[in-house]
Amino acid sequence: MQIFDGHNDVLSRLWCGSTDPVADFDRDIGHINMPAARAGNLVGGFFALYAPSERAPYDFSALTSGAPELPLAPMLDEAQAAQAVFGQLGIAMQLSAAGQIEICTSAAALEQAIAGPALAAVLHLEGAECIGPDLLALEALHGFGLRSLGPVWSRPTIFGDGVPFKSGVDGDTGAGLTDAGQRLLRRCAELGIMIDTSHMTLKGFWQVAEAGLPLVATHSNAYALGRNARNLTDDQLRGIAQTGGMVGLNFATVFLSDRGWQSGQADLSDCIRQLDHLIAVAGEDHVGLGSDFDGAPLPQGITSAADLGALVAAMGDHGYDAALIDKITSGNWRRLLAAHLG
Ligand code: ZN
Repeated sequence: MQIFDGHNDVLSRLWCGSTDPVADFDRDIGHINMPAARAGNLVGGFFALYAPSERAPYDFSALTSGAPELPLAPMLDEAQAAQAVFGQLGIAMQLSAAGQIEICTSAAALEQAIAGPALAAVLHLEGAECIGPDLLALEALHGFGLRSLGPVWSRPTIFGDGVPFKSGVDGDTGAGLTDAGQRLLRRCAELGIMIDTSHMTLKGFWQVAEAGLPLVATHSNAYALGRNARNLTDDQLRGIAQTGGMVGLNFATVFLSDRGWQSGQADLSDCIRQLDHLIAVAGEDHVGLGSDFDGAPLPQGITSAADLGALVAAMGDHGYDAALIDKITSGNWRRLLAAHLG
């Protein structure tokens, strides 16, 4: 079973912690690398460009502390964000030149890459801090192959508010998109850049639908099972179905369940419970995977992409048939991207 995944942070992991990304991507380091991808049948996914608050290896301990709310990250300077994003873009170019990934900007290229040895990569921008009100950096990023964008990560930008990491509340935590955010949406639609609503507030989420765009949450879970602001209410999940969008199961322990938030612990059964709910409410054509590999603490049973087979096996043990497993593991993302990339 081939896996196409909705979200990973391997480019920022390499930018923060590697002096030789091409060599390190061939070694079994982190959640995604070539040996792990081969072992787990990972054929591709959305690769995020993400500007962290500081350039240091990730530490998940704050996220798994059980605190009801983490302080919202402060706004990031445009130049500082650009340094991170264009650095990570440079790493993507290096991995591409080395034949490890293939940056895909058309449906045909995507399917060709999936059939080949390189990982099929759809470039995604997670938080648009590096783009100013003139949107010129957006034009540049599009030229380099960007085809997916989240206007906000979990911090405010000139384009809108992001949800905090907070338990006990849904995503109705702040303002939606600003006028600049609305202009960003329109220009992305013109350029063929998909909008990702993960990390957006409830208000911003519905503004995407009002703009006539499909609601896609590349790495988010159901609020019914994990009550925190990063997760989606059943109304949001129905909106995803009605607009022909997608939701990708986030493997992060803290988003899988309330117990996961409190303890930082989760296992494969929590993933299956989430999938059951996402499928029941959004429908089996609108659910995929959105691992958050290299950006989040993983449940027991998955230590890297090499273990994706364990999740697939758990789906089978739970009674999902081959056709449903195929939709969840890659078919739905591939269908959405075929239509989106054209
Ligand atoms: Zn994220």
